[in-house]
This record gives sequence, C-alpha cells and structure tokens, in this order.
Amino acid sequence: MSIPTVLVLPYPAQGHVNPLMTLSQKLVEHGCKVVFVNSEFDHKRVVGSMAEQQDESLLKLVSIPDGLGPDDDRNDLSKLCDALLNTMPTMLEKLIEDIHSNGDNRISFIVADLTMGWALDVGSKLGIKGALLCPASAAFFALLYHVPRLIDDGIIDSDGGLTLTTKKKILISQGMPEVDPGDFFWLNLGDTINCKIVLNYLIQCTKRLNLAEWWLCNTTYELEPGPLSSIPKVVPVGPLLRSYDDTMATAKSIGQYWEEDLSCMSWLDQQPHGSVLYVAFGSFTHFDQNQFNELALGLDLINRPFLWVVRQDNKTVYPNEFLGSKGKIVSWAPQQKVLSHPAIACFLTHCGWNSIMEGLSNGVPLLCWPYFGDQIYNKTYICDELKVGLGFDQDKNGLVSRMELERKVDQILTDENIKSRSLELKDKVMNNIAKGGQSLENLNRFVKWLKE
Ligand code: UDP
Repeated sequence: MSIPTVLVLPYPAQGHVNPLMTLSQKLVEHGCKVVFVNSEFDHKRVVGSMAEQQDESLLKLVSIPDGLGPDDDRNDLSKLCDALLNTMPTMLEKLIEDIHSNGDNRISFIVADLTMGWALDVGSKLGIKGALLCPASAAFFALLYHVPRLIDDGIIDSDGGLTLTTKKKILISQGMPEVDPGDFFWLNLGDTINCKIVLNYLIQCTKRLNLAEWWLCNTTYELEPGPLSSIPKVVPVGPLLRSYDDTMATAKSIGQYWEEDLSCMSWLDQQPHGSVLYVAFGSFTHFDQNQFNELALGLDLINRPFLWVVRQDNKTVYPNEFLGSKGKIVSWAPQQKVLSHPAIACFLTHCGWNSIMEGLSNGVPLLCWPYFGDQIYNKTYICDELKVGLGFDQDKNGLVSRMELERKVDQILTDENIKSRSLELKDKVMNNIAKGGQSLENLNRFVKWLKE
C-alpha cells in the first residue's frame, strides 16, 4: 500500500478549519501525509497562535490568497464568497502544480470543505480525485443538496429570498423536523449581507457534489438518522474531536485563530464538580452593547461560577455595574478540554455545529442562543428534537434579559431529564469513535480506499 498525500482545503472560517484539521490529523494517525491549505490571512493567524512549532514532515501547513486585501472585512460573507470564487481556484491549481514541479510528494487526493466544493473542479482538471467534508450537520448537507429542487419548486427564488406562497413549514428531507423557510441559513445572514451572492456561491459548490467520491460529515447516525437515511451517500465520521493522548497527532492544537488561554484549566480545577456555566459564542458572533450588558449582568445574577469567552475582536465594553466576581473571562479557551472538565455543568452556546458536537460528546446540557445561519436550525433540533437544551425568550425590546438568563440557567440545571438524556446521548455519540464504532469504521474504510 502506498502513502497517500492528501490536500485538505477548509473554507476560511474557524468553525471550518477546526474539523478539517482534526480530520487531517486523523489521516496522519492512519498513515497518510497531509498538505493543509489555509487562506494566507488565516495561515498567518494559525501559525502566530501556535504554542510550538509544527513538525511538517507529515502535516504541512501552506496557504493561498483569498482574493481580499489585508484590511477587507472577512466577516462580510458576500464579499468573501465573491473574492474566493474569483481567486482561489486559479491559486489552488498553481499551488498543486508548484508542489508537483518541486518534486515534492504528488497530491494524490483532495478533501475539500463542502463549502469549497469548487475545488473538485480543479482536482478533476488535474486528474486528482476528491472527497467533500461537511463540517456542519447532515441536515445542512441535505439543505444544500436540495437547493436546486427548492428553487425548481418555487420555495426559494434564485435570490435566496422566499416566494410569497411558501411562508409555511416545509420538510426538506424525510425524517427531518419541519423547517420554517425563514430558518434557512442564507436568510439569517443579517441585513448587511447580500444573500444572492452567498446563495450563488453555495450553488457553485453543490454543483460539484457529483465529482466527489466520498461525502463525509461531522455527525453520527444516532444524532441525525433522518437526513443520513435520506441521502445515504453522506457518511458520518463524527464526532471529529481532538485526542488527549499526547502520542496522537490529534492531541496537537493546530489551526486556532487565537492563542488558547490555558489558565482557565487550573481555574476550573478549583471549582466544584458540575458547578460552572461555560459561555462561548464561537469565532464570529458579535453582540450589540445592550445585549452584551444584559448578558454580563445576567452572569452576575446566576450567582455561580462561570467561564466566559470574550474574544479580542469584541467591540463592546463591560457595563459599569458588572462585578464578574464568580467568573473567569478569557479571550479564547481550549474549548474541547474545557467541555470535558468535570467542573462544567452547562454550556451557553451560539449553536455552531462544532460547539454542539463538542457539547454533546461530553454530555453537557446546552443553553441555546443562536446568532445566525444554520445555528437557528441547530437550536430547534437540540431543544425540540434531541431535547438536551433550552432556548431563550426575548423581551419586548428583542433582548434576552438578565432575568431570563438567570431563569433558564436555574431551569436547565434542575432538569434531571435533560441531564440524563445528555448523558445517554454522549454514550451513543462517543461509541461511534470507539473500537468498532460506525464513524471509526467509516474513517477506516475511507483511508483504506485512499491507500488502494
Ligand atoms: N473554540 C475554541 N475556543 C473558544 C471558542 C471556540 O477553541 O474559546 C472552537 C470550538 O471548539 C469550535 C470552534 O471554535 O471548534 C467554533 O466552531 P463553531 O462551529 O461552534 O462556531 P463558529 O465559530 O463557526 O460560529
């Protein structure tokens, strides 16, 4: 069997880089070489936040431009998608040709993020086969898969808008809960984003679905039987988690945009078991000042220890009355380690799919505060279908008030059913990556296929 060199290409966002990096590290553990391609912008951040230098013999970090200038706003999805599509395919082709002409290992296979599906065109031009990995839920995969049908059926128009006649709940895939079309991710991108450009970008990616030999997804069958049975080609390989065994490639923290503040782990060691509320809203979410104030003052009200991630790019200020005396605030946490710590009681999350998978894998009940995109659907799925979390009600000003936060923290921590369902689900999810588990077997099959 040969040693395959796999080129891995994430969409340039933290919630995409992390699962694709974990998959890459697993490929290395299974005897593959990996060339991991970030955008130049992200590559600088990733290298800058790494605690130790990376041994590049098996996993090499490289980069290509994303088409934006250094000061452009990369949180503007329409701008980013437009630039990616105009620039990256040519740059990727050049990168692969350079690797080949330098006499380095030839790229034998491409694993692209589902939302970088255009990369498979580049692969097919160069005679390289490819796979897609969906870092989000299988439901998201099903949604993208069905976009052409949704347009044909007149449920959405090609601008990403809803047609007037379809303001009713629809079923995208057998076995999935009904979705309010208003919950579609591209309608929840915020007012400033041009949905037409984002939808067009996603359509360009889904057009390449059939070029992929494998459709992988960071999920498990127990979590999402509906979408997985409706599209049997989607193969679950989740949960994609880092390992705590230092001899494994997955134990290394590579790919973070910000340096992890490890001081929160010793702080957690000092807290009673099952006492701490962990509060983190992923890599993208921003609050307006009023909502930030309510959140901060709510954390004072709950009167229990909390660990709160407030990123460096936060633009709000702490309200004057905020004490935070029971809490610890960090600008970026080693989230997977945090969630596996016995002191954690509950996770207040924005419902990004990675955060959800990491929470579920540790049996931690979820308080769901979605912000945009697929997070809105994820929240509904967690609260109404899996029943391992609670959402928040907004007050008349559209805010989650400090009292509402206090109420829901009390409610979730005293709900024994949520607690026991979370633990049951944890066992089911984690069995997937134990010996003989379905996701592990799927990954083994994939690697065997790569090596043939
Ligand atoms: N994360 C982290 N430290 C933090 C906050 C988040 O390592 O302080 C990681 C988290 O473990 C997850 C990713 O960042 O893997 C966020 O992905 P997710 O899909 O949850 O949200 P997104 O950032 O895409 O909105």
